[in-house]
Order: sequence, then structure tokens, then C-alpha cells
Amino acid sequence: MAKDAGFAEQNPESRQGLYRMSKQRSFKRRQCVFCGQPATNKNREHVLPKWLLELTGDPSRVVTMAINPESGEPIKFAWSALVMPACKACNSEYGALEETVKPIVLALLDRRPITSRQAFALLDWLDKVRVCLWLSQIILQSTMETIDPHLHVGNRIGKKDRLLYLYTIDGSGKGLNGFGIDSLIFQHHPSSFALRVNDIILFNASSDYAFSRGCGFWHPERVERYIDGEFAGLVGFLGDAMTRKIAHPVVDYPLLKAALRIVQPIAQRGGGGEFLGPLRQNESYHLNHMSNPSRGAGIIFRQLDDRVLPIYDPDARLEFESVDPVTNGNVGEIVAQVYRFQVHLLQKAGEPVGIEAAIAHAESMSNIMAMTNEMRAMLVETGRTSDQGPDYVARAFRDAMAAAKRPSETSG
Ligand SMILES: [Zn+2]
Repeated sequence: MAKDAGFAEQNPESRQGLYRMSKQRSFKRRQCVFCGQPATNKNREHVLPKWLLELTGDPSRVVTMAINPESGEPIKFAWSALVMPACKACNSEYGALEETVKPIVLALLDRRPITSRQAFALLDWLDKVRVCLWLSQIILQSTMETIDPHLHVGNRIGKKDRLLYLYTIDGSGKGLNGFGIDSLIFQHHPSSFALRVNDIILFNASSDYAFSRGCGFWHPERVERYIDGEFAGLVGFLGDAMTRKIAHPVVDYPLLKAALRIVQPIAQRGGGGEFLGPLRQNESYHLNHMSNPSRGAGIIFRQLDDRVLPIYDPDARLEFESVDPVTNGNVGEIVAQVYRFQVHLLQKAGEPVGIEAAIAHAESMSNIMAMTNEMRAMLVETGRTSDQGPDYVARAFRDAMAAAKRPSETSG
């Protein structure tokens, strides 16, 4: 490993969550879901806020969001029952974010433009919802015996490059759905999901340096995931790359056209608190393209048909683009895109580094997860999904996992 490699904590769930599927269903989290501190003055925080539940139907309606990985059976619950512990201070802080975001979502439902500044708040909120849904999946599937208090929302908002593609699905009625959160890739690497709110779909993604290259920002030349030894569980960012040029298209994946297509690069800090990369925050290209240099937050880069537009003015209005309903994907195609984009981001998340047997194992697990997601994508694209009865994809995955034994179990 290079001496000056930057490190970030790898998703701890990859060590604990995926391979230890506990049968124990009790859940004893007492830490605040936002800050990880003990939840004194314990409040219950709704994973999805009440205003959103009321906006999209009966707040007590029963939905299926998780699949029991042992049996493949759907786990049903009421949205309103999906609550997590939170301390009082965090509850009011995140309550303020909800107040900010509610009019933004209402504007989008009315097809009214939002400002760049509002887009930042919306992206923060999507980070919050995505991480909350991920934590709730871990709880519902009971894949961890206890929840690591380091797994919380506060250290995951606005920390990594992020993306929002807003799809309009005119003519659909009320409804609230989270798409892509049932996949095992999401459980391992909660990078991308989509949230349907009545007749819009918010397609969201966030992952280390996923879009920095396209925005001309600094990014590592190579990302390594250490799967055994002293650095097991860590990610190494090696080498320096920076084009200082905006790529068109900005995202290196053919996403379906949407009414609003934006990305925001985020510069990350290493263990010493400095931004990663030798150029750090004082590099002039970064300074010219940051909305909040102290946080490492870039401006919005907007994808248009013929170019990518950097949005320097935080009060600039992001008008909707017209999208041909024939070329725009239908709901099934948009959901399929979530599963496929998760695979794309997983493959970009780093090369496994370790002993040969461990690498072979990590690669076979990645292949199984990628195939499972492709199965889900094909089923949803062709309308062959149901929340009634067993989930055969989850069952097939479980069988494949059982067949691929871990090297530590075979070598002793
Ligand atoms: Zn808290």
C-alpha cells in the first residue's frame, strides 16, 4: 500500500451485515439514529416523515419493504410504524431539515422549478432518507445482532459525491415507494435508491468520488478495498487525478433522461482532517466550483441534452426540461435502472486487495450480488414482480451464498 494513501472507513456493514445472517429478531438499538450518541430524552423519529406519509395516502397503510433473507418471504409493516430512536437535539435539528424540504417536494410535484440552494437541501434530505431506509432494512432483516453505533445518519449527510435525477410519471395516483432498498448490494453499499412520491420519482445516488471525475474535481486514480490483514475493512484512495474539465455526459453511465439531472461533487477529508489529494481546498478549480469550501461541497452540475451546465448562482432556478414520454423510461425501467446503477457503483467502489483466496471469495460474492440485481432489474422491467408470496430472487441469492463458502470457514 502506498505510504500517502488516503483512507475512509469502509461501510462497516460489509464486514458485519452481509455474511452473518442472524436468526435473532430482537432489536436493541439505543443510540440516536442521527448522532450515534445514547438517545437520552428518547424520542422516536419517523424514518419517513409524517408530512410525506400524509401527502401520499393513508399514513397507517401497510407496505412491504424488506425481504426475510432466510425464508425469502416479504416483511410487511406500516410506514408509520417505522421509527427509530433519536435524541431530542437531533430530532429538532432534523425536524428543521424536514420543514425546509417539504415545500421543495411540493414544488416538484407542481412541476415548479427549485433553486440550486434548495437542491442542496433536497440532496441532504435524500442522504438522510437513504441512510435511514438502509438502517431500517438492516433492522427488519435482522442481519446484525446489535447495531454498531457508528452506523448513523449524521456522518453520512453531504459527505460523498451525489446525484439526483428527477423523473415525472404523469398520471399516476398517490403513493410512496422506496425502490432498490431490498437488494443485497444496497445492504452492503447503500449507494443508490429511488423514492416515488405520487407522480415523481427521485432517483438518488451517493458514493465515494462517483462523479468527481466528470465535474473536473480531484479524485483518486485507484481505489482499493482491503479485505484482510491489518487494514481489513478500510478503503485506500491511491494516486491523484484531476482534469479541471467538465465531461459531457457528466455521469459515466447511460441514465434515462429526466426532467432534472444534477450532480454535486464532494471533496472528502482524510484522517488528519485535511482534504484528500495534494491540492486540497485551495486549488483554484475547486475554489471556483465550490458552494461551501469548508465542507468540501461542490456546486451543482446540471446535465442537459447538449452540455453540462455548472450552476454558480445558488439562487438560480432549475427549470424542468421537457422529456418525451416515449424516450423517458416508464416506472419499471426507472426501477430497473436503480438495480443496475447499484451494480455500476459497486464495481467502481474499489479493487479488492488481500490474499488470493480472499480476493477470489470477494469477487464471487460481487458477481453473485451483481447477478441477483440483474435478475431483479429484468423482473421489474417486464412487470413480473409481486409483494405477495416469496421472493425467489432472495431465495436464489441465499442458495448461492450457501454454496460459496467463505475461505476462513474452509481453511479453518
Ligand atoms: Zn442525536
